[in-house]
Amino acid sequence: MRRPVIAVDGPAGAGKSTVARRVARALGFRYIDTGAMYRAVALKALTTGVDLRSEAAVRQVAAETEVDLTSGPGGETRVWLDGVDVTEALRGPEVNASVSVVAGFPSVRALLVERQRRLAADGGVVMDGRDIGTVVLPYADYKFFLTASLEARTHRRQRELSQMGFAVDAGALREEIRQRDALDQNRAVAPLRRAEDAVVIDTTDLSVDAVVDRILSLVTARES
Ligand code: C5P
Repeated sequence: MRRPVIAVDGPAGAGKSTVARRVARALGFRYIDTGAMYRAVALKALTTGVDLRSEAAVRQVAAETEVDLTSGPGGETRVWLDGVDVTEALRGPEVNASVSVVAGFPSVRALLVERQRRLAADGGVVMDGRDIGTVVLPYADYKFFLTASLEARTHRRQRELSQMGFAVDAGALREEIRQRDALDQNRAVAPLRRAEDAVVIDTTDLSVDAVVDRILSLVTARES
């Protein structure tokens, strides 16, 4: 029997990647972080000096970019860009500032969406992003949309970044998250929005464990 596919969407800092990774591990599924794919394209465009305003140039970068996701020793996701571990570099301020521009190009999205669909084709996958339940996998067996207040999301991102050694000002980070959400929600192609059949979970006052348990209980109740 084909194993299910689980889509997890939501704005920046809503806890998607932490939750999706844990759900995948509990079910023995593969976790796919689609944000890392867009980030990897942005990083490569930045480091190779490609004009970020040129859709054709950025699409070319995406077509020539290989992104692999592996599990590190502590279960964390490691992201490889053309064979180089770029996990930390992907979270840096330059990538944060330009990733939504890169992700706004329809031809870049078409290329990455096709790769994402291939990765999910055999099932047994938890995929997180902005458009997984609406565009990438509209027939996903389960769809979740995680939200949280801007304050909570800023606080989480700040903690995550400081653990990686980036010192960030909370006010600037809040503004950057707000701007990225606005770009993601208002773009013409595949904007960030909840699929009508997604289960919404507001994680503002919930622990990671509580969110993971809620998702697992919904999935295991239907699968057993
Ligand atoms: O999830 P993460 O914050 O790493 O995503 C980085 C950016 O990549 C988002 O702000 C968005 O612009 C883009 N993205 C997207 N579609 C996805 C995943 C990420 O447009 N499925």
